Amino acid sequence: MMECIFCKIVNRDIREPLVYEGQHVVAFRDINPQAPTHVLIVPRQHIASVADLRPEHAPIVEEMLTAANTIAQEEGVAQSGYRLVLNRGPAAGQSVDHLHMHLLAGRKLAWPPG
Ligand code: 5GP
Ligand code: ZN
Repeated sequence: MMECIFCKIVNRDIREPLVYEGQHVVAFRDINPQAPTHVLIVPRQHIASVADLRPEHAPIVEEMLTAANTIAQEEGVAQSGYRLVLNRGPAAGQSVDHLHMHLLAGRKLAWPPG
C-alpha cells in the first residue's frame, strides 16, 4: 500500500509530526483543519475503512478510542468537549482510503453535522 498517503506517514516516508505514537495507532494534525484542534487518529495497519474492520482488529479499535482520550487531555480539550468522526464512503466524504478517526475540538460544534 505504498501509494497510500497515510501509510507513508505511518512508515515515516512522509515526516508529518506525530502527536501520538502507540503500539497500533499514530495521530497527526489534519493538513486542512476544520477546528482549532483537528487530529487524525490512524491505525498503523492499512485498513481501508470502518467497513473493513474484523474481530481481530479489536485491539486497534480500542487503541483508537483510548488514544483519542489521551490526545484530548494533552490538547486541553477533554473538559470542554470534542467530537470523534469516522467518515465511511463517498456520501460521508471519505477522501483517504486508510481508516482514520477525526478528533475535532476548540470551537462550538454544530449538531447535526453538515
Ligand atoms: P476524510 O475526508 O477521508 O474523512 O478525511 C481525510 C482527511 O485527511 C482530510 O481532513 C484531509 O485534510 C486530511 N489529509 C489528507 N492528506 C493529508 C496529508 O498528507 N497530511 C495530513 N496531515 N492530513 C491529510
Ligand atoms: Zn494506508
